[in-house]
Amino acid sequence: MTKKIFLSIIAVSFLAVTAAIFLLTGVSYSHNADEAADSLRLNCTIISSAAELNGDEYLVGTDFGSLRVTWISESGQVLFDSSRDPLQLDDHSDRKEVEEALRSGSGNSERYSDTLMTKTVYYAVRISDGSVIRVSDEQMSFAAMLLKNLQPLVVILTVLALCSLISAIMISRRIVRPINDIDLDHPKIEKSYKELSPLLEKLRKQNGRINRQMIELRQSREQFSLITESMSEGLIIADQKANILTSNSSAYTLLGAECGTDDHTVFSLCRTEQFRRCIQDAMGGRRSECIISTDSGKRSVIASPANSHDTVNGIVVFVIDVTEQQQLETMRREFTSNVSHELKTPLTTIYGISDMLANGMVKAEDVGSLSSDIRNEADRLITLINDIVSLSKLDESSAPRQDEEVDLYDLSAEVISRLQISAKEKNVTAELTGDHVTVFGSRTILGEVIFNLCDNAIKYNREGGSFSVKVSHIPMKAIITVSDTGTGIPEKHLSRIFERFYRVDKSRSRKIKGTGLGLSIVKHGADYHGGTVRAESTVGKGTSFIVELPIDKQHGERTAESAS
Ligand code: ADP
Repeated sequence: MTKKIFLSIIAVSFLAVTAAIFLLTGVSYSHNADEAADSLRLNCTIISSAAELNGDEYLVGTDFGSLRVTWISESGQVLFDSSRDPLQLDDHSDRKEVEEALRSGSGNSERYSDTLMTKTVYYAVRISDGSVIRVSDEQMSFAAMLLKNLQPLVVILTVLALCSLISAIMISRRIVRPINDIDLDHPKIEKSYKELSPLLEKLRKQNGRINRQMIELRQSREQFSLITESMSEGLIIADQKANILTSNSSAYTLLGAECGTDDHTVFSLCRTEQFRRCIQDAMGGRRSECIISTDSGKRSVIASPANSHDTVNGIVVFVIDVTEQQQLETMRREFTSNVSHELKTPLTTIYGISDMLANGMVKAEDVGSLSSDIRNEADRLITLINDIVSLSKLDESSAPRQDEEVDLYDLSAEVISRLQISAKEKNVTAELTGDHVTVFGSRTILGEVIFNLCDNAIKYNREGGSFSVKVSHIPMKAIITVSDTGTGIPEKHLSRIFERFYRVDKSRSRKIKGTGLGLSIVKHGADYHGGTVRAESTVGKGTSFIVELPIDKQHGERTAESAS
């Protein structure tokens, strides 16, 4: 703006000065020309009067100075000329001033030289004999006058240009300063130019609107990032070149990527081929999914293109932790194959023996023992099926809960009495100690938990050994500890004994009836109540299983809900 004002001032000044020079020169030129014409007319009148009186002697004998005097006959022939030989001059009757003088008594005209630098002014008067006396004088033309004054004009122009330059700088700065000083964030109308008031008022309103929109934008951005940050799923939004526009921290955590690297593309988050292909598919306009393995587990990646009018404007990528899902899937597959295997073994035995019996291939004395084998295998099948049913019930998180107040001491006493026969068979003694601690839960499931622990304490005990059940509590927690004097469990197996169908020593365990599902039921039972179970064991000395359950009813319910 300063530059524009400055240039305008300079241009106006230049034009004004130039116009002034032209006008002044013009005025003075016209004034001079008028004066010269008057003086020429006067001279012509005097000379013509003198010539009329004294004839050609006057003309020949007089020095006319810079004036040129010509005597022209009525027919146009030049009779005398003060600066040229009359014989060399042609007929003058066609000269404008001569023509006029012959016609009306006097005439004048002016003619420019070839270069337009000089002008000759003529004045002619008819004298009494009908001839014409013409006087002419050379004058400077307007252009010649301008050229003559060029030097002082250039000096004046330069001085004026400098003055207008300095004043243009000062004026333009003075004009622009108040505009520059306007605080655009808080424009004050009274301090500025009146003419700017509507603009500043508009600016003030627009500022208010922009501020409100900025606040709204910031709020919605904050809300968006609050929502996306609270998501456990990873979310990445990228442009069509895969440059990340927005993302949440879960995306980085799940993909095991580092924030703040120089590479800002989605590809930098995971370098696997599947991930790259998945993203490229989405960039190509196709929704794509893949499962990738990271150091911390399996991730499902879903990449969708964001299209508008068949053009991919960007991509949206979801990252979901599917480790548990995949583990469950693996467990389900293993469980099915284990169940089939465990069912097949006793069924094969039963089928084999009954086939032999049906074909009369068995001696009469062996029938009894083979029948008891069939019974044992059938027993095993029933136990297995019962365990599977118990587990599947525990797996059904949606099944309605039938919780009640359960006295763990009384329940333990009941379980021990149910196991008296098998304890006696193994010559194992049982002891129950502790307090009447009540929890809010499923009597049936808690009964199964205690039963399986006590059953194992007898099964994996030595001849003449013992086991104890202790019911105690600490603030907010009930504790059931089942300890035995049995074989113990080697350290390396302790972390796996709660898995389905896991048996520590398969060959030895085969002699001991079991399905490998008992401790799995215990763990699920504890989970169901929002509790935990752990084992402590010393090989050759015995094992303790410690089950901790929340006492507080609400807490129990809450934790149980989250566990399910
Ligand atoms: P099972 O039906 O084989 O008893 P469980 O799930 O109850 O299945 O137990 C898994 C494995 O843990 C058992 O096969 C056994 O090897 C070991 N185990 C469980 N309880 C005890 C215990 N009290 N003492 C020693 N080993 C045990």
